[in-house]
Amino acid sequence: MRKNTKFIFVMGGVLSGLGKGIAVSSIARILYGKGYRVSAMKIDPYVNVDAGTMNPTEHGEVFVTKDGLETDQDIGNYERFLQTELTRESYMTTGQVYLSVIQRERNLAYHGKSVQVVPHIPDEVIRRIHRAAATTKAEILIIEIGGTVGEYENLLFLEAARMMRLKTPQQVQFILVSYLPIPSKLGEMKTKPTQHAVRALNSAGIHPDFLLCRAEQSLDQPRRERLSIFCNMRVEDILAAPDVDLVYEVPLRFEEQRLGEKILRKFGLTVRRRNLRDWRSLINRVKRLRREVTIGVIGKYFSSGHFTLSDSYISVIESIKHAAWSIGVRPMVTWLNAEEFEERPAALRQLDGFDGLIVPGGFGARGVEGKIAAIEYLRKHQIPFLGLCYGLQLAVIEFARNVLKLRGAQTTEITSSTPYPVIDVMPDQRVKLERQEFGGSMRLGEFGCRLKTGSLAQRLYGRRQTRERHRHRYEVNNRYRHRFAGKGFVPVGFNPELDLVEIMELESHPFFIGVQFHAEFKSYPLNPHPLFRGFLQAAVKRRQARRP
Ligand code: GLN
Repeated sequence: MRKNTKFIFVMGGVLSGLGKGIAVSSIARILYGKGYRVSAMKIDPYVNVDAGTMNPTEHGEVFVTKDGLETDQDIGNYERFLQTELTRESYMTTGQVYLSVIQRERNLAYHGKSVQVVPHIPDEVIRRIHRAAATTKAEILIIEIGGTVGEYENLLFLEAARMMRLKTPQQVQFILVSYLPIPSKLGEMKTKPTQHAVRALNSAGIHPDFLLCRAEQSLDQPRRERLSIFCNMRVEDILAAPDVDLVYEVPLRFEEQRLGEKILRKFGLTVRRRNLRDWRSLINRVKRLRREVTIGVIGKYFSSGHFTLSDSYISVIESIKHAAWSIGVRPMVTWLNAEEFEERPAALRQLDGFDGLIVPGGFGARGVEGKIAAIEYLRKHQIPFLGLCYGLQLAVIEFARNVLKLRGAQTTEITSSTPYPVIDVMPDQRVKLERQEFGGSMRLGEFGCRLKTGSLAQRLYGRRQTRERHRHRYEVNNRYRHRFAGKGFVPVGFNPELDLVEIMELESHPFFIGVQFHAEFKSYPLNPHPLFRGFLQAAVKRRQARRP
């Protein structure tokens, strides 16, 4: 156990979806800017062991760590804000915690004692928190507790947090991110739900050190004072967290209220340096961008009831932004529902209106024919295309059917009896599928990729090899590799150990690249992914050619 690590628990009040993950990421960035080694960790109250078995329309994107854990999208936010790579130790779920306690019990590791929810479950939670601190060597570890205070699901995590504070009061702080509604009929900001959230937290034995007040608008002084009295907190510890246009702005908004200094002071720490300069200049630059570029994302995980969710593809969207900003343009991202292209082929013509299109990852048959039709259109009309994972696989199918004339070419994920299985499973994956071992059993995490000298991909990376993150079961079938190359759709990235195709690019097209990995998991605001950058450059070029 590291002795002097400081821990900050961040919890949510009133409702979910408050941007706790962004708050955690922002606090982490601020404290990093003050000269500390900071890391962040997420606790997800789900019984699922990892996020891999959850549908993106329900839980948002599944993010993958470099060591291959399927996690919640917040880990992606932490990585982007801190420009770091986290590992499985930085993510825990209720399922993981119970699974390890039960396994230990089966191995007689509790020496015949009765194993109880309290203290054994919080003990395991605490053990994992310390393990995360040790793995990341963090001086300050910020821990996000998923869910909202007052619900049954996260009680045991609050209990663990309370126990840690009891043991080392100087080393643990609590931050509550809460919501203040402004009902349209009243037109004023209401503090009562937040007062109740603080009480709910109090009844778990926890009193917040800071309150971050999420609202459409900034918190005013009278309400700050009211919250101070009713929540029993100092006025200066109650901070405004109004909506912003750009999530990367949040650290700056918190810094205006000196949150970083206030946290450090409570820990008895000093400011080692002041450095948020690169971040600040990025935001200033982004806000001044005028030139636009239009990017379409063709997917299927968009709607939940009457609402459209962009969360399912959050890393893709952020990667587009990072790359666009780095070349001085403002990206306008539009969702295109692949199924629409199946119902109305004429709708394909709207693709002409975009500067570039992305087909991101996906699973199963729904929307696939629409995506394939769109890819054919992009190939023939010289429109920049970037295919990510399923996007590459569908580009391979499209090319097989329409250029190689392999009628009925398909991925065996959809049609196992296809005459041309151009996308197929590896033998080890076949065994897992037969045994119905679906959870955590794909090709997951980081793998090496050797780049073909002189290819566009290699030139964009500017090196001979790279490492990228994967999450898929199916692969380009090596039996067909040379036929594709012969017709100009060339494999240019390979994993040498497994002899697998990782990148393919089309000759005589301004930009048509498919990658078997998820390039979007390694893009940062100040350091965009080279392939996204190349794609955006091609999109800008197309725009200039069309509107000189
Ligand atoms: N469904 C495909 C596979 O399992 C692609 C997965 C993905 O896009 N992440 O291989």
